[in-house]
Amino acid sequence: MTPSPETVTVLRNVRPWGGDAVDVHVADGRITALAPHDPAVPAPPADGVVDGRGLLAIPGLVNAHAHVDKSWWGKPWVSYGGEATTQGRIAHERAHRDELGIPGIDVTLAVLREFLRHGTTAIRTHVDVDLGLGLRGIEVVRDALEAVGGAVHAEIVAFPQDGVLRRPGVLALLDEAAAAGAEHVGGLDPASIDRDPVGQLDGLFAIAERRGVGVDVHLHDGGPLGAFQIELMIERTLRAGLQGMVNVAHGFAVGELPASRQADLVAAMGEAGITMTTVAPIGAAPLPVHALREAGVAVGLGTDGIRDLWSPYGTGDLLALTTQLARLSRFRHDDELVTAARIASSDAAPFVGRGVHDLVVGAPADVVLVDAENVPDAVVRAPGRALVVAGGRVVARDGDVLV
Ligand SMILES: [Zn+2]
Repeated sequence: MTPSPETVTVLRNVRPWGGDAVDVHVADGRITALAPHDPAVPAPPADGVVDGRGLLAIPGLVNAHAHVDKSWWGKPWVSYGGEATTQGRIAHERAHRDELGIPGIDVTLAVLREFLRHGTTAIRTHVDVDLGLGLRGIEVVRDALEAVGGAVHAEIVAFPQDGVLRRPGVLALLDEAAAAGAEHVGGLDPASIDRDPVGQLDGLFAIAERRGVGVDVHLHDGGPLGAFQIELMIERTLRAGLQGMVNVAHGFAVGELPASRQADLVAAMGEAGITMTTVAPIGAAPLPVHALREAGVAVGLGTDGIRDLWSPYGTGDLLALTTQLARLSRFRHDDELVTAARIASSDAAPFVGRGVHDLVVGAPADVVLVDAENVPDAVVRAPGRALVVAGGRVVARDGDVLV
């Protein structure tokens, strides 16, 4: 039996973003004040007063691309098998997920708790929706989120991992998921999986318009084929007035285009309010992160699936992944390293439906403490999370998850 997590009223002596030490006051799960810390004033012996020991404070990390339904985290080792193509991974997963209890509340709980241990307090998670499972995966994920007492704030993408148009009935399932509260409908390589990019995107955008939900499409297709599909998404976003609600996940094509073509596409994405999420993959052309952000294209960072039937890799540590993003992006200057930390936290607020997610008054009290000199030091080293506060409750301390 895990003890119920401690509710924080004051988190004393922490350094938000590496600034001067403050006391963070919390009520009803939100930050109500940031007062300069006075070391001469002893801590009142009250419940909820937590000593931050002068540690660096950053906001709770935001995993903008997760798959919490399909990991085998916490289970005995599962060797990699099947073909290494997208279709090969889809087939391999469909053949073996049942024997691993996927989807299941225990596997999802294991992932959520691992996220919390590493300081992730908000996620956008894709959840498989297909003809075999229907919407059962989404129900499982909702149950698991409830089981951690809301410690992880989540938005759900109803994700047609096995294709959309090539599997008649899936569009209706996505519509049903959106009607039942999924915040986004997903898509998958409209050209190479469905071989009908216009058809898949028209179907997804029709649901988004009808239900008022977002669209979040996995796009592995590279080069001109990928760019063409982003153009189709831009057209449909503008036509449907869905600016700010459409995301391209992966979008390797953007990193692969010649410079002038890339600049035009990035500008058009910015004008349409399209966002991007990356998993900072090794071996793919890095996204032009600075250019995207300058054009108004918000960039989110996510783990993708961790330790699943797609890949044995992934630990769920988003701060370690921030190090990887910074390295792949060739970030070296302090301001660039701070940008990487912002991408992984405060600037990702829109990816999880939040107006503000930062160490400021009015924000949810999601705070991560690390023993680091400053934010650049934390980004390059990804030190262990000394304390994780989510919604004003201590949910992890020194590697122990308390929910
Ligand atoms: Zn994914």
